[in-house]
Amino acid sequence: MASNLKSERTLLLVKPDGVKRGLIGEVILRMEQRGLKVIALKMVQPTVEHIEGFLPKSDKWLERMGNKTLGTYEQYKMDPIKELGTKDPLKIGKMIKKWLVGFWLSGPVVAMVISGIHAIDMVRKIVGNTIPAKAEMGTIRGDYSVDSPILANIGKRAIHNVIHASGDIEEATHETEHWFSPEEIHDYKRAEEDIMF
Ligand code: ADP
Repeated sequence: MASNLKSERTLLLVKPDGVKRGLIGEVILRMEQRGLKVIALKMVQPTVEHIEGFLPKSDKWLERMGNKTLGTYEQYKMDPIKELGTKDPLKIGKMIKKWLVGFWLSGPVVAMVISGIHAIDMVRKIVGNTIPAKAEMGTIRGDYSVDSPILANIGKRAIHNVIHASGDIEEATHETEHWFSPEEIHDYKRAEEDIMF
């Protein structure tokens, strides 16, 4: 149990915007400086099938995405029917999913598996809020992204926010298996492990 706690695993992807902006090194630096360990790393040009298998499929997730978008439209006093042709959260969620697929296919992605104490939560914290304006300074998204949901929605595209990181243990397990085979994951001991924890 104790050894598992020290080596929780999570999947981190540098999205096509992050790769094209030369942020691969910065992302790795921020993981390593926190005491987290990169145990798998590769660059991939994803296929449609790969991304469709990766993105959640449940209606619950699609509805959550749709409702988030409806909230943005309400905030900016814009009419979803005029902009998107519907106010059904599920239908809007399906549209966002299509935009997301397009974004993921727009260039190579750097995939890594990160291991460490509470790696899932730690990585999410270092990455910051999904919406760049809400992401705290000092987080990767807070320091390196400026996109806005309403701008993304008007442009019928996904929010460009540099990183994807798994949200919980189930996601981390499924996503790690989706992007890496067991042979591609390498464990090792970092020199400062005995001192840091
Ligand atoms: P996270 O990536 O922080 O886990 P979500 O699972 O809510 O966030 O969303 C997945 C990705 O979908 C986001 O990182 C972002 O690129 C994109 N996205 C989220 N909400 C919207 C939206 N309202 N419009 C367009 N793209 C969105």
